[in-house]
Amino acid sequence: MIVVMKKGATQEQVEHMIERVEELGLKAHPIIGTERTVIAAIGEKRDEHRASLESGPGVAEVVPILAPYKVASREVKPEPTVVRAGSLSVGNTHLGVIAGPCAVENEEQLVLTAKAVKAAGATAIRGGAFKPRTSPYSFQGLKEAGLKILAAAREETGLAVVTEVLSEADVELVARYADVMQIGARNMQNYRLLEAVGYAGKPVLLKRGASATMDELLLAAEYVLNAGNPNVMLCERGIRTFESHTRYTLSLSAVPYLHDRTHLPIVVDPSHGTGHTNLVTRMAAASVAAGADGLIVEVHPNPEKALSDGYQTLDFAQFEELMALCRRVAEAVGKRIE
Ligand code: PEP
Ligand code: MN
Repeated sequence: MIVVMKKGATQEQVEHMIERVEELGLKAHPIIGTERTVIAAIGEKRDEHRASLESGPGVAEVVPILAPYKVASREVKPEPTVVRAGSLSVGNTHLGVIAGPCAVENEEQLVLTAKAVKAAGATAIRGGAFKPRTSPYSFQGLKEAGLKILAAAREETGLAVVTEVLSEADVELVARYADVMQIGARNMQNYRLLEAVGYAGKPVLLKRGASATMDELLLAAEYVLNAGNPNVMLCERGIRTFESHTRYTLSLSAVPYLHDRTHLPIVVDPSHGTGHTNLVTRMAAASVAAGADGLIVEVHPNPEKALSDGYQTLDFAQFEELMALCRRVAEAVGKRIE
C-alpha cells in the first residue's frame, strides 16, 4: 500500500503516519518527493488496514501497489532516483561512466588506467578485487591488496571506486574501501548477500543475472531497498540465449522497459554484454540512445595482457573514442556525462 500524503502535509503528520504504519506491523518506507511525500507500507496482509490509514491526519489517499516489487516501483516514486557516490552521479540527466579493468592486477596498471579514463571523462573507476571466475584455477583477484590499490587510485584521481563483493563474509571489508558495492550477475539472487549490502549502506550496483527476468531483477533490488538502502543502480549486462556470436545477448530494451517500471537508474555494461572489443563502443552509444543512466566499461593499458576479459576490453585510445561518441549521443537525449 502507498499512503499518499496531502500536498501541504506537515512533518508531524508524516511522522504520525509512519508510526501508525509501524504499529500495524508493517514496514514504513517514507519517500519525500518534490510534489508530495508518500509512505510505502510493506508487509503481509497490508490491504486490511487501508481504511484505518486513510482517515489519518494529512492523508490524501491510500492505494495498493500493483507491482510485485514495491519500493522499487514507479507507483511509489514517480521521479527518477539519482544515485550519488563521490565523483559518480547516475540518474535523471546525469550519465555516469564507470571505467577500468576487469580485475585489479597491480598498482601501476590500476593507477595508470584511472588517470587515463579520468582524462577521457569517466566519472568512476572500476576493478575487481574479488573475482567470480568460472574456473577455480583462474585468477581470483588480489582481495584486500586489490582494495588498497583501488583506494590509492581514488586518492590519486578523485574517482569513486566501484568494486564487486562476492560474499556476505566480505561485505564489511569491501564497504571500508568501496564507494559503490557491485553485486555480480552470478550473485543477483543471493538474497542474504543482498540484505547484507542493504544494511552496509553504501550505494549498490546490482547486475542482472544471465538468466534472470526483469521481475526477478526488480525483486532482487527490492531486497536491498527493503534493508533500508535507497541507493540502488540496476545493470543490464546481457543474458544467455541460443545466440553464440556474442558472449551474452545485450538486451537493450531492458532500459526503457525498466524506466517505465522503476525510478531506479539503469546502467548498461556493453563489455560483458557483447564480449568483443570491437562491439563495445557502438553498443555503449546505443545504450545511451536507449536512455541508459550509466555505462560500465572494461579498460586496460594493454588488453592483450589482461589477466581476465581482455577480449572485451578497450585500450585508452578506444575508450576516448567511446567517450567522444557517447557524449554526442548523450546530448541528443538530454543527458550529460558528469
Ligand atoms: C564484472 O563486472 O567484472 C563481472 C564479473 O560482471 P558480471 O557479474 O556481469 O559477469
Ligand atoms: Mn570482466
